[in-house]
Amino acid sequence: MSIEVINISKYYKEQKALNNVSFKVKDAEIVGFLGPNGAGKSTMMKILTTYINANEGSAMVNGHDVSIDKKNVQQSVGYLPEHNPLYTDLYVKEYLDFNANVYGTPKSRINEVIELTGLTPEAHKKIGQLSKGYRQRVGLANALLHNPDVLILDEPTTGLDPNQLVEIRNLIKSIGKEKTVFLSTHIMQEVEAMCDRVIIINKGEVVADKYLKELRDGQEQIVIVEFDYRVEEAFLLKLPKVKSVKNPNGFIYEITFSTEEDMRSHVFDFAHDNDLKILQLNQKNASLESLFRELTN
Ligand code: ADP
Ligand code: MG
Repeated sequence: MSIEVINISKYYKEQKALNNVSFKVKDAEIVGFLGPNGAGKSTMMKILTTYINANEGSAMVNGHDVSIDKKNVQQSVGYLPEHNPLYTDLYVKEYLDFNANVYGTPKSRINEVIELTGLTPEAHKKIGQLSKGYRQRVGLANALLHNPDVLILDEPTTGLDPNQLVEIRNLIKSIGKEKTVFLSTHIMQEVEAMCDRVIIINKGEVVADKYLKELRDGQEQIVIVEFDYRVEEAFLLKLPKVKSVKNPNGFIYEITFSTEEDMRSHVFDFAHDNDLKILQLNQKNASLESLFRELTN
């Protein structure tokens, strides 16, 4: 077990930020810690990385207790904090070299993490000259320096543009093949794109803990289809196993089906039979979306 949290509670003065939180993360899993702002995600991550202490309960990272074995915990985890603190006046290599000295990491590892995080073309620049996406890579490189088994990433994709987002997601997924990744986000799509499992937290309490596969195999799905002109919603309700139809904008329709079968081919055939042209056709997991809305509203 990479992370084991048992009945953790944390108060800031009278305010309870975490209330009796328990969960486990297995080796080499990518787990999304999903919740709205203020849910307690960063607080949990600070406890797991020994930056703050819990008031009640216990937590183990890589078999080490966060309250008594801080040094071993820190050796086991790479942490990307929410507001990734970087020295903008330092060159990328200089910054990593500085931190390698702090950790006592061999210098050869610096080039390894630069390569691993795709920083090579920017490695000669000052951190202040880098885009937000590349700064996140520097933060990830830094978290990976001492080759930890567990990565704890606090909102690693917040503030990135769509291209950077895809790049960082792919990077995290590839890192997750070998290491345990526990990442927080308030964006549901992030979980769908990167994680094996989701733990949903709301107002300091864990409200769901599920494998995405279980959710995908669930009973609902949404097919998003764009036609080249207007279609009556009532007409689309003739589709088999359809539950509801929404028209969020333009000629785009969100069709919810109550079945686990992939309904895209049915929509395609339906369009063909009725002389409708399809401009785009996508499927998304209705279960995670409705679960998240239901549990955090
Ligand atoms: P999240 O990361 O999910 O947005 P946080 O863990 O940052 O949530 O915060 C959880 C709750 O604890 C929020 O209500 C927040 O205002 C409060 N909180 C966080 N840090 C502090 C602090 N240092 N002092 C007082 N309250 C805090
Ligand atoms: Mg936070």
